[in-house]
Amino acid sequence: MSEEFYANDVVKLTQDLVKIPSHKFIENRESEVAEFIYNYCKKSGLEVEYQQVEGLRRNVIAKLKGKGTGKNLIFNGHIDTVPPYEMEFDPFCAEIKDGYLLGRGCNDMKGAVACMITAMLSIKNKGIQLGGDIILTAAVGEEEKSDGTEFVVKSGIRADGAIVGEPANYGYALGHRGLEWLEIRIEGKIAHGGIPELGINAISKAAKLIRRIEEQLMPKLKERQNEWMGPSVMNFGLIKGGTQPSSVADSCIIQIDRRYLPGENVEGVIKEYQDIIDEIKAEDKEFKAEIIRMDSNLMDEFDHAPLIAQPDSDIAKTVYNVLKEFVNKEPNIEKRRGWTDAGVLSTYGKIPTVVTGPGDLKYSHAKNEKIPVVDLTNYVEIYTKIAEEFCK
Ligand SMILES: [Zn+2]
Repeated sequence: MSEEFYANDVVKLTQDLVKIPSHKFIENRESEVAEFIYNYCKKSGLEVEYQQVEGLRRNVIAKLKGKGTGKNLIFNGHIDTVPPYEMEFDPFCAEIKDGYLLGRGCNDMKGAVACMITAMLSIKNKGIQLGGDIILTAAVGEEEKSDGTEFVVKSGIRADGAIVGEPANYGYALGHRGLEWLEIRIEGKIAHGGIPELGINAISKAAKLIRRIEEQLMPKLKERQNEWMGPSVMNFGLIKGGTQPSSVADSCIIQIDRRYLPGENVEGVIKEYQDIIDEIKAEDKEFKAEIIRMDSNLMDEFDHAPLIAQPDSDIAKTVYNVLKEFVNKEPNIEKRRGWTDAGVLSTYGKIPTVVTGPGDLKYSHAKNEKIPVVDLTNYVEIYTKIAEEFCK
């Protein structure tokens, strides 16, 4: 079969996947798109099965069996998307315009899933059996709690390397930081604004805490650097407190996004805030605050752990070689990218994992989410070469 055949195929498959909404406001979310992928793989002759994650929400695991003499490779991609919110065009149109395929999830990351499946089929249809297995894990829930890939790892899947196909613009990531969302709740005491000395102002107390964090913790984080992911960082993402101008604010909450490095962990991260809270409590007996992990970001058992870089692993070397040959220069290593399911595969699955996929991160979650059609056809070739070299 010709390369053109696969080019048409991957574009059509991406369009079909984009046309099936699979975000959190859809009943049973990814169930329909999973069924489509399952049927597509089955009729194409891949071994395929479901993993029931929650109710009708299922991962699809498809396999191209090798001879059992080579290394096994996981292709991981998530099949949920963020909601359309206010997109500039019909989010599920999957139209092609000016060389781009448009729609929610085309870039993040149904295009990559289509490339992975098409690469597996291109190898299968050549009639060559590789030494190792290629295993597609089309996972649910990455945009929420990553319950899909958490389930994949807990199912005991084994492989010698994995690719997570998040958009990387012909570059790759060997590491990224872990992610934790924290909320600090500060309690005050309400009083009339004309006699504020009778109350305790939670907003003022929050301001004190913020200053202390900026002075004491942030400089420390800056000093913690990782070659593959940059510094440890935090961000005050939301503050909310009080009821109206003429009442002393009796409560205030601060929400924090914290990106941590290998060597740091969630307990340690929380303790650093707790120590500052305790310090202020010791000097100000009116200061009351507690810190909690935000439920909206909590995984079942795992944490949003870092992707641990293993530059000497076979998968890292293979990706480097294939991309270098393809782009004809040193491929770009992304050092400060956001969190992906690669953190789960690498930290808990102990599988050396690299992030590379079609598209550009700037279009993920965007009002104009789109992906260059040429990236789709190129990534079929890139994934095919990676698999052929890695699993040979
Ligand atoms: Zn994504």
